[in-house]
Formats: sequence, C-alpha cells, structure tokens
Amino acid sequence: MFPFQKKSYDYKKLAGKWSGLCAQTGFHEGCYAKWLQLIADALGAQGGCLVLREGSGASLGVKACLDGRHFSFHPQDCSKLIQWLEKNKRGITRRQILEEPQYFPVKIHGLNFFLQFQAEACVPLFGGQERLAGILVFGPKKNNREYGAACLEVMEWFAAQLAPWLQNGLLTEELRRRQTEVDALRDLKSQMTANLSHELRTPLTSVLGFAEILAEEIDGPLLPEQKRHVAEILNGGERLLRTLSALVDMAKIEAGQYPLNVSQFHLGPVLEGALDEIALNGEIDLEVSLNGHTPMVYGDLQMVRQVFRQLLDNAAKYTPRGKVTVSAGRKGEMLEICVADTGIGIAKEKLPEIFRGFYQISSGLTRTYQGPGIGLALSKKMVEAHGGRLWAESRPGQGSQFFFTLPLKPITIRHKELAA
Ligand code: ADP
Repeated sequence: MFPFQKKSYDYKKLAGKWSGLCAQTGFHEGCYAKWLQLIADALGAQGGCLVLREGSGASLGVKACLDGRHFSFHPQDCSKLIQWLEKNKRGITRRQILEEPQYFPVKIHGLNFFLQFQAEACVPLFGGQERLAGILVFGPKKNNREYGAACLEVMEWFAAQLAPWLQNGLLTEELRRRQTEVDALRDLKSQMTANLSHELRTPLTSVLGFAEILAEEIDGPLLPEQKRHVAEILNGGERLLRTLSALVDMAKIEAGQYPLNVSQFHLGPVLEGALDEIALNGEIDLEVSLNGHTPMVYGDLQMVRQVFRQLLDNAAKYTPRGKVTVSAGRKGEMLEICVADTGIGIAKEKLPEIFRGFYQISSGLTRTYQGPGIGLALSKKMVEAHGGRLWAESRPGQGSQFFFTLPLKPITIRHKELAA
C-alpha cells in the first residue's frame, strides 16, 4: 500500500469556488494561471502547468506555469504518454508509471514527461471533442504525500469543468485564425484588383487618347461610318475606364488606403458640381431643396461629390420620365440627405442586394440599363468612411429614395473599419 492521503474532497465547495472564479475572469489566456492556482491549492500541489494544443495544429505548448517557473517541453520525447492520455481520458501519476506493470508500455515516455515538468501527476483535457486539447500537470504535494485515487478523481473533475471553457476558447482561437486568413485574402484581392486595374487603365488611356484624335479628325476627315465606329470606341472605352476607376477606389477603400481629406463645406456647390457631370434627360424635372440654411457638413468633398454623382446618375438612369428631388435635414449629429426619384423602383427583397457590389437587378426592364453594378457598393463604403450610413427605400413602379448621412461635427476616420 502507498501512503495515500485518504482525503475526500468537498465537491460542492470546489464547484462554488470554480464557478466564482470563472464568472469573475471569463475565458482568456490571462486566467490560465488563476485556474491552475485554484486546482493546485485544492490538491495541495507545489506547482502546476497548463499545456495546450496550439491552434489547430498537432503541437502542444506550455501556456502557463505557477510560481513563474519555466519548463522546456519536448512532446516528441513523451508522445506515447500523450497518446495514452488521449486514448484513456484519465489522469495518471509518476508513481503509477514506475510501479504498476500495466503502465510499462508508456514507462519511458511517461517518466520523460514527468521529469520535464518535475511533476507527479497529470490529467488530460478535452474541449468537447475526442482530440486531446491539453494536459494539466502538477508538482509534488506540499505535505509530501502521494497522489491517490481521490486526487486523480478531483483532477479529472476539474478537467471536466474546464472542457466547455476550452471548447469556447479553441473555437474563438480558430475563428480569430480564420478571420486573419480572410483579412489576408481580402488584402491580397484588393491589392491584385488595384494592380490589375492600374495595368489595364494605362493602355486604355492611350486607346482613348488616339480615338479622340481620330474623332476630332486631326489626322484627316472620316467617313460617316468611320465616325460612328470611333464614337463606339470612345463610348465603350470611357465606360471601361469608369469601371476600372471604381474598382481601384473600391480596392483602396477595402485596403484602408484611401486617404480622406476632411474639411467643412456646404453641400449646395458640391451637388452642383456633381450635376455638371451627369446627363439628366429632358423628361426629368429636378428639384433641389438645399439652401443657405442647410447646415455645413464635415467630410471629404471629392468623395461626397462622387456619392452625389452616383445617386443622381442612377436616379436619372432608372427614371425614364418623372422627377428627381434632392433634400436634406438635420438628424441629431448628422445631416440626412435624400435623393428621390419617381422611376422604376426596386423590389423590397432586392434592396439589400444592390449594395453588395457587382449586382444588377436582372429583369427585362433593367437589362436595358448599362452599369457594372459597383457604384452603390462603393458609395456605401465612402459614406461609411465618414461614420455615416447609406440605405434605400423603394416601391416598384413608384420610385426610389436613397438616403445617406454625413457628420455635422468634426470626425476622426478609422480606416480599417472601412474594409469590414
Ligand atoms: P449600376 O452601375 O448597375 O447602376 P449600382 O451599384 O449603381 O450599379 O446599382 C446597382 C443596381 O441597383 C442597379 O443595377 C439597379 O438595378 C439598382 N438601382 C440603383 N439605383 C436605382 C434607382 N434609382 N432606381 C432603380 N433601381 C436602381
């Protein structure tokens, strides 16, 4: 018989202490040492270590040790013990390995393990899965007694309490890892889009330049047929250039590389500038109810002009005949601007889609309108860059209202938020 301590543990008391600690600390790496301390105190152990699986990989690493001690852990020298723990799902002591024949197959690796940690007992941890999530390791007892069955039982009980916390923690870690991968992929996509668009934009500019020379008949007069062809080249080329520019802007915003040049300004002149750049057909009445009383906003003037141009361009494009109205009103610390039209409208279920990017409502009617389907997605990002919102309300056949908000107070731009 070993001089086992015949101690029976007060599980009710331990459960109270454990849940009190968890409620106080939550789950994060900073609480590993506190968990260990509580368990080591309950066991009367001199020290303890927490070993956990690192990420989704196969390796195990020391995550916390009591009393500021450091151990270098070489899992490859004790792999058989680790496999045993994973398979048997129960605790084990150094003495058991030394003295009980059933543990002889893991004797060398087991003794290596306990030697590395100068430990006497350990218990495997699982995070709600079959796969070993970690190991709790404990040093000799303060009263020099052996770890007996009651100690192993209480260690296993603590390991079971840890399981849901570990599961949450491992899931959170996995999510964080995936998010990092997604961020990296998105940055790569933005970078590639920016590079590719730049590469395409440069030769396109010279195509357009030469087409203009031809159109202006600088190299000599053109036949009517040739004039029509050159006009087609110019038309198509300009559309392509607009799409490429929108793609570059989108990629820059997503990569957080679109510097905002913030100033305070009146919206009236910005709206006029945008109107100069678009073609409203003769069948559309324009009503603007911005005036000198409309408060000034803070933002990037060029970006706001681009948002106006996009919304007005769309209003004109999707309103074969009718009215386009621009109005604005104060909403708390923001100015809410509305661009409304009496055009073809948008079905309710399609409304969230139109801001997704590369989206065009496909119906017999809208197929006749050309566009890459990126303008609203870009405008939304631009407004969000100002801490504002852009959204739409619409009724098919009756028209659409596009709203966006801009700050009335100075703003701080937090770039990385744009990419989200
Ligand atoms: P596009 O370049 O295709 O116009 P947008 O991102 O500007 O791309 O718009 C996405 C889609 O939203 C459009 O294809 C169109 O179906 C719909 N849409 C946008 N503005 C309006 C509007 N004022 N009225 C009706 N439909 C609109």
